[in-house]
Amino acid sequence: MIDRHNYHLFQPLLYRVATAVLSSADIAEPIRVVLRHQQNATVLLDEVIGIAARQVKTRFGAAQSYDYLVLATRSQYTYFGHSEWPRLAPGLKSVDDATLIRHRLLLAFEEAETVCRPGDTPTPADVCPGRRWTDRG
Ligand SMILES: Cc1cc2nc3c(=O)[nH]c(=O)nc-3n(C[C@H](O)[C@H](O)[C@H](O)COP(=O)(O)OP(=O)(O)OC[C@H]3O[C@@H](n4cnc5c(N)ncnc54)[C@H](O)[C@@H]3O)c2cc1C
Repeated sequence: MIDRHNYHLFQPLLYRVATAVLSSADIAEPIRVVLRHQQNATVLLDEVIGIAARQVKTRFGAAQSYDYLVLATRSQYTYFGHSEWPRLAPGLKSVDDATLIRHRLLLAFEEAETVCRPGDTPTPADVCPGRRWTDRG
């Protein structure tokens, strides 16, 4: 198993990290722990940079030969050519993505606390990330 991260991320629960319900450690587990009972498995932290002549080339280590190769390199969002959209609507596929959204979300709630004046009747806060984030620049 070659991965540029040494952990397996359970992506379906990323939204819970993004909304501060879970910590990232709750949904990320070392690949070596996942495969600890797989005696014939070796885990390498490296980046695949090419495949040719039945060899996997990696950035740092020696080339690895194989009989069968399974490639599972994830997918990525498309913003339909709008390079300005990711800043307003970041993707949610990695721990970094979830941490960024969590940071922005919690800050938005903190800001909502401070804009209420004493004596005002608190109203339910609407968090409209696109608008708020645009305002933040
Ligand atoms: C928010 C969210 C919710 C989801 N909810 C569900 C759900 O409810 N049900 C469901 O069935 N699916 C769900 N999915 C989809 C599911 O998580 C993905 O389809 C699945 O994780 C894809 O598996 P994968 O192995 O292809 O990619 P990933 O799980 O992304 O794994 C790819 C791995 O490849 C590594 N990698 C990539 N390029 C390289 C390289 N060049 N060299 C070395 N390593 C590399 C990465 O570090 C990563 O560890 C969800 C996805 C997301 C983002």
